[in-house]
Amino acid sequence: MKHEFLIDACSGKSIDVKENQTITVIDLYGGQVVDFFAEALRKPNEFLSAGVTIDCNESLRLGINSIIYTNLYRPMFQILADDVGEHDLLHPCCRPEMYDFFYHNGDGHPNCLDNINNCLKNQRPIIHPVNFFMYTKINTDGTISVESPLSKAGDSVTLRALMDVRLGVASCSVSESKCNSGKCSPVKIVIED
Ligand SMILES: [Zn+2]
Repeated sequence: MKHEFLIDACSGKSIDVKENQTITVIDLYGGQVVDFFAEALRKPNEFLSAGVTIDCNESLRLGINSIIYTNLYRPMFQILADDVGEHDLLHPCCRPEMYDFFYHNGDGHPNCLDNINNCLKNQRPIIHPVNFFMYTKINTDGTISVESPLSKAGDSVTLRALMDVRLGVASCSVSESKCNSGKCSPVKIVIED
């Protein structure tokens, strides 16, 4: 069985996925970041943790075969295929306060924190997702800079779910910087057995 979900620009969607199903995250138009978060199904106190993923993998990067872990240090996803190879584990979901900090326009701005909290019917105070396709350049002196994603139209990442999960996925709302190449566009998620 194959199920396709379109996530409009600047919006989010929740999708239930069973253990062993695959998830393909597709950047339909290129240059668009996907904030990818998940909870263990019916156990929302266990959730995807970018920090634990960095810890367990001893790496700031993800690659083919990398595992993405939960806050309880259990394997949640494995990356099976990746057209791009450049993703971000450092940044929390964008939120009104972030837009205020950098651009003074947070009031009413669509944002990934609200989009993911709303679709998961939860109100986490902060979410650290895996930011697929986000290109954060990490310099040797420790400074970082957010560059335009390297993803082109149709590029994708495929993962296997290693437990039953509820995804909360958002097509990132930042149009003010290079983060999403200066514009926001829709993405697609495909779930297959
Ligand atoms: Zn965002």
